[in-house]
Amino acid sequence: MNRILLASALLFAALSAALADEMPPAPPAALPATKTPEVKLVEPHLHIARSNLAGHARIALTFDACMGQADERILSTLVRERIPATIFVTARWLRHNPAALAVFLQNPDLFELENHGENHIPAVDTPTLIYGIASAGSPQAVKQEVEGGAAAMTAAGIPAPHWFRGSTAKYDLSAIGEIRAMGYRIAGYSVNGDGGSLLGAVITEKRIASAKDGDVVISHINQPTHAAGEGVAKALVDLKAKGTEFVRLEDVEDMGDDRTTE
Ligand SMILES: [Zn+2]
Repeated sequence: MNRILLASALLFAALSAALADEMPPAPPAALPATKTPEVKLVEPHLHIARSNLAGHARIALTFDACMGQADERILSTLVRERIPATIFVTARWLRHNPAALAVFLQNPDLFELENHGENHIPAVDTPTLIYGIASAGSPQAVKQEVEGGAAAMTAAGIPAPHWFRGSTAKYDLSAIGEIRAMGYRIAGYSVNGDGGSLLGAVITEKRIASAKDGDVVISHINQPTHAAGEGVAKALVDLKAKGTEFVRLEDVEDMGDDRTTE
């Protein structure tokens, strides 16, 4: 018995050591405050003017195309059902998806294309990590992320963007000021449709289909292998059947907090 306990203890110790090797560095809270300036991040909300018509909720669908591929389940549903949407593209995504870009450009009545940055780097002007992604880290790098995204768009034949949404949808207030000074409105959201494309199909469908009059829904159109996209496509049909008025951000008045649109 003792031998088994001892063996277990040794195994546990070995496992702990092995895990410790793979553990990320200690969280910033454990370090002296002087070495980790606290970066206050905001994740702004955005709403659009309501229709105030019973049975005809007005909803803005927004999709991020961060990197990777195009989700044909969503794209083909938008085109088939003639559902307008605002798509936030990165330079990186544009390079790898000429066929999907062609579909967007062939349907200018449906798709408004806006700026999701050059390399999907969070638009935060102080060094920090967000979901493990390193922030731009300086005002110059934020500017490069925004301008690099816009330059790739216009080079691809897309009209100059007026809206920006950064990677992770989080910002510090100074970066918001910098991006606004570049002439952009910053696109928050009010309904997180797919949880970063990581939710299941059923919950994603339920979240998006329950959007209300004046809501701005965020989800992803770049994860064709994730279950969430199946739920997104179904929710589009659900919303249309409910009489939803789909609008793009350029079509309506909007209200964003954290000084993102005022
Ligand atoms: Zn993204």
